[in-house]
Amino acid sequence: MTTHLPGPFSLVPFVSVDDMMKLVIDIGVEQMLSELADEIENDFRRWELFDKTPRVAAHSEQGVIELMPTSDGEAYGFKYVNGHPGNTHSGRQTVTAFGVLADVANGYPLLLSEMTLLTALRTAATSAMVAKHLMPKGAKTMAMIGNGAQSEFQSLAFKAVCGITRVQMYDIDAKATAKAMRNLKNSGLEVVACKTPEDAVHGAEIITTCTADKQYATILTDNMVGAGVHINAIGGDCPGKTELHRDILLRSDIFVEFPEQTRIEGEIQQLDPDHPVTEMWQVINGQAAGRTSDRQITLFDSVGFATEDFSALRYVREQLKTRPYFTNLDLLADPDDPRDLFGMVMRKQAKMAAE
Ligand code: NAD
Repeated sequence: MTTHLPGPFSLVPFVSVDDMMKLVIDIGVEQMLSELADEIENDFRRWELFDKTPRVAAHSEQGVIELMPTSDGEAYGFKYVNGHPGNTHSGRQTVTAFGVLADVANGYPLLLSEMTLLTALRTAATSAMVAKHLMPKGAKTMAMIGNGAQSEFQSLAFKAVCGITRVQMYDIDAKATAKAMRNLKNSGLEVVACKTPEDAVHGAEIITTCTADKQYATILTDNMVGAGVHINAIGGDCPGKTELHRDILLRSDIFVEFPEQTRIEGEIQQLDPDHPVTEMWQVINGQAAGRTSDRQITLFDSVGFATEDFSALRYVREQLKTRPYFTNLDLLADPDDPRDLFGMVMRKQAKMAAE
């Protein structure tokens, strides 16, 4: 296969936001969401191989900045990501991110990429991949509460991976719902704007909560959740930031990515530290039960884990072998003699003086 990736190892491919948009458009958003879901699922299957740690978080009054590292022994990845619920008031995104993939054998970066779009894609792909294992059979309708930046990606991932056909949308800000309705107009989904969260969950077999507020919020109350639904709770992903009433948690079977991180950041921070949860990698590998009855409430307490970003970065790098959506960055010093770093500067100085 011909590859577009750089030969000299001092050059690092960089995927800008513009490049990422071109990649998404070229592959097709639903196709990319499905392929990402497969990549993420494959890495959940080899979960035990990964070096895992709860992300490193720097909290402030306004939000959080986090670093999310992991490695499978061959490649290493990390993401820088923020979460600032007040940002949209000043025209900024709530969540922005970028990330690096590197070669464990020599430590050299293999890829530097924007990850704001990639986070939305990988979060949606993870949600849908998990729902495929837990949702009630034949689910067709999803409630989408919180119609911000993530919401269209979530809706399309559930269409592509889980086969849903209808989305019932609700947001406290009607402008957000109108935006999502516009964006999903030609998606093939039946999209309905709802005036209340109760209307949104009515008749839905899957409920996705994807709101942003830096507090213990109650997006869903206990009486809104009927038997048999699958809840995909995305927005509670920080200490002091949750979306579900505690009583819902007590009625649900709870599935998580990495318990050590979810107990700090997820909905389950509201529960005792030893409240039983099931790890998704075990369900995927057939080592733990997923949904076992029609009346069971399954809850994916999503916070976002480093392996999902790792899978996404590796997927993007693989795509760049056949698609030219990157620029080469002169990121790494490459003197002729590796030990003559200083001499490299002197030669540059001489060259500049001669010019
Ligand atoms: P966003 O700010 O673009 O959208 C959030 C939306 O929630 C806004 O439209 C807001 O009006 C709405 N909202 C706030 N309170 C509400 C309420 N009580 N009822 C209904 N709607 C309400 O944010 P985003 O980028 O879409 O992210 C949404 C959430 O998902 C954030 O909390 C973010 O931290 C989280 N997130 C989680 C993951 C993960 O892996 N779990 C990944 C990315 C983002």
